[in-house]
Amino acid sequence: CNKFCSFCVVPFTRGAEYSRSVEEIVDEAKSLCEKGCKEIILLGQNVNAYHGINKNKVQINLAGLITELAKITKLERITYTTSHPRDMNDDLINLHQDNEKLNPYLHLPVQSGSDSILKNMNRKYTVKQYLKIIDKLRKKVPNIALSSDFIVGFPGETKKDFQETLNLVKEVKFAQAYSFKYSRRIGTRANRIKCALAEKEKDERLHELQAILNNQKIQYNQSFLGKKVEVLIKGKGKKEKQYRGTTKWMQSAIFEYDGYLERNKVNLKVKSAMENCLLGDLI
Ligand code: SF4
Repeated sequence: CNKFCSFCVVPFTRGAEYSRSVEEIVDEAKSLCEKGCKEIILLGQNVNAYHGINKNKVQINLAGLITELAKITKLERITYTTSHPRDMNDDLINLHQDNEKLNPYLHLPVQSGSDSILKNMNRKYTVKQYLKIIDKLRKKVPNIALSSDFIVGFPGETKKDFQETLNLVKEVKFAQAYSFKYSRRIGTRANRIKCALAEKEKDERLHELQAILNNQKIQYNQSFLGKKVEVLIKGKGKKEKQYRGTTKWMQSAIFEYDGYLERNKVNLKVKSAMENCLLGDLI
């Protein structure tokens, strides 16, 4: 990663950003699909900064790479993670509407809803810019599942800064999120900023944020009640006769079937929606 957020060790531990060639990735995907793979998740920090070279030595962005991968007939679903708001370009946003193999899911860490904290984090975007990306995406794919990361109690975070994070969360309404208390990392710039916030206050802020995020997660999943969803089966569930899989929105889905299922993809009618999964009946 080349971003050097002030709290993060990744650029020091993993080194500079590097993009594999388009050909290498497409060949690997083809070989996986020949062995039965139906879904590919492109992983990288930050994956949407991808700039690999194609056969003609032309630099291709992530939207271009996904377009190439989507041509593989046996491949049905593509996801990418983790993205940085600064690299969320219009090609990629438009592809969510234009390419049906690209899952309607985006993990786009915002970290804080306060511009001054974002500046101290060296994130190099503002809340307004983040919200503009969300707005563009929702105009293309209204029910896109939006996911994010949050750090609570970053050095210098005031009550007002934290309230601004809550305001952002309430405005966006996330389908899922990961939230953590700030913890120091040796060698990072943020480690040199004095942190006056008591652990108890950090805990309280984290609980307040997580209560809202968990509620939003349930509400998002409940918007699928009664609907038909396609599920790629990932294996057996915890109980006998139970199978588990994932939807295109990256939700876990569970259903029962008495017997051996030869298919690896089914349609379910969602009958129950919880924080961490959907329950459905096989159609
Ligand atoms: Fe890079 Fe993400 Fe770490 Fe920032 S938080 S430096 S974008 S890996």
